[in-house]
Order: sequence, then C-alpha cells, then structure tokens
Amino acid sequence: MVHFVGAGCGAPDLITVRGQRLLEEADVIIYAGSLVNPALLEAKKDNCKVYNSAEMTLEEVIEAMQQAERAGLTTVRLHTGDPCLYGAVREQMDALEQLGISYDSCPGVSSLCGAAASLNLEYTLPGISQSVILTRMAGKTAVPEKESIESFAAHRATMVLFLSAGMPSELSARLIAGGYTSETPAAIVYKASWPEEEAQICTVGTLAETAERCGIHKTALILVGDAILHSNYRRSDLYNPAFETEYRKKAASFRNLPLQPQT
Ligand code: SAH
Repeated sequence: MVHFVGAGCGAPDLITVRGQRLLEEADVIIYAGSLVNPALLEAKKDNCKVYNSAEMTLEEVIEAMQQAERAGLTTVRLHTGDPCLYGAVREQMDALEQLGISYDSCPGVSSLCGAAASLNLEYTLPGISQSVILTRMAGKTAVPEKESIESFAAHRATMVLFLSAGMPSELSARLIAGGYTSETPAAIVYKASWPEEEAQICTVGTLAETAERCGIHKTALILVGDAILHSNYRRSDLYNPAFETEYRKKAASFRNLPLQPQT
C-alpha cells in the first residue's frame, strides 16, 4: 500500500493528524526533499527506509514503491503542501495502477493556505472577490494558451500564483496587460510557515522591485487582488444581526460593529 501524504507547507506541526500517523507507521518514506521540511522525518520508525525524491526519476520512485510492495511494506510518499497542486502525483498513481499496487491520498495544508495565514488574509471577501484563481507562469511545464495570465487577470478576482516568483517583471506586465491596475495590491510570501518566512505587501506594479529588494526568487507565492489590503469589503450576511439564518433568528435590536473606515 502506498499513501500519498501532504506534508503541509513547512512547519512540521502543520501536517494533519492522519498524515503524522501514516508517517509514524511507514516502513518506507519517499519525501520531496526540495520543499518538505526534513524535521517531519523525525516521526519515522527506526528501521524505516528513507528516499529523497529530489534526486530520483519517476521510474526510480516507482521502483522503490514496487520493491516495498513486494516485501509487504507500507510506503508514504510525502509531498509538499497538498499533493493535489503541482504535485506530479497523477503519473505515480497511474504507474501504480498498472502494477496493481493500491494507494490512497491524505491531504495537507497547501502553501495557498499557509500564505494566507501569514498575512491573516481572507481571499474571498464579500464585495471584493468570491473567487480565487490558482495558476502559474509557464516554466519547464507549459501552460495551455487558453489559461494565459492576461485572460485570468481580466476577472480581477483574487489570484494566487505558484512557481512564478522567478519571473516577477514579466508577471507584473502580463497582469497589467490583462486588466489589473499597477496599483492593485499584491504580496510575495516566501517560505510560509517556515522560520525564515517573509511576507511583503506591494502592488502589481512593484512586484519586481520588491522581489529584487528582498532577494526572493523562489519558494514563494505571489498573491494579487484587493483582498490583500481588505479595505472596502462588505461584512458577511451570515453573521449580520439584521439577517436571519437557518440557525439564528434576526436580532430584535442590535448595534453594528464599526469594522473599518469605508474609503
Ligand atoms: N503542492 C504544493 C505546491 C508545489 S509547487 C502546495 O500545495 O503548496 C511549488 C511551489 O509552491 C513553489 O514554487 C512556491 O510557489 C509554492 N510554495 C511551496 N511551499 C511554499 C511556502 N512554504 N511558501 C510559499 N510558497 C510555497
């Protein structure tokens, strides 16, 4: 059996309780050494065999899983954040299916969430954006033409860009060409939840100079949209005393909290 496990985005206590248990019970751990915090390996059994997939090909990873399976051992394949985002897991799963090896998935805290936590953000603020676009600039992996940065920028929704911190000038130009203004709030979050975490708020127009000034070129997310400065959002109806919900009656009288100056 192979368990694909999300390691979380850095801090070792951000793995799920289930993921931690799977790590503790694993006979073999294959971890993505480029981004997974090695402190997580402290949970392993004494006789657990550990591989660093950063130094391996897909074929070698599958071979290691197959060997473990033949010996009746349990493997944890530990991926950074949540495996469902840019995790290259599907190809492993398909190879395992061909070999008749069973597998399952345990989610993790994606850097998508880690970055929001580092700035205490809510990506989906009423009156600002109710959508989050997750995408990337093309790198070694091409991005389909229909998913151009410009086409997504036209929505002016909240956008979270993975794998793009090394190309901030091109990204900034394409975001502006697509529809954001150069004053639209943006942020660069480096190594969210690691001790060296750094979160910089800037604008779409100053992404490149901010990245340059802070020396951030990788392991960072770029966040874009008005949700980052959270001014002028609407409070939720869900918790509004003037509204009734399935669980709560409308209040007879109430005082509204002064949330923020509406500019
Ligand atoms: N599956 C991972 C993403 C893997 S792709 C997840 O759910 O987070 C690798 C990219 O994720 C990096 O280039 C960077 O853009 C982002 N990333 C991963 N960990 C990060 C972290 N702790 N802080 C900021 N960005 C991170």
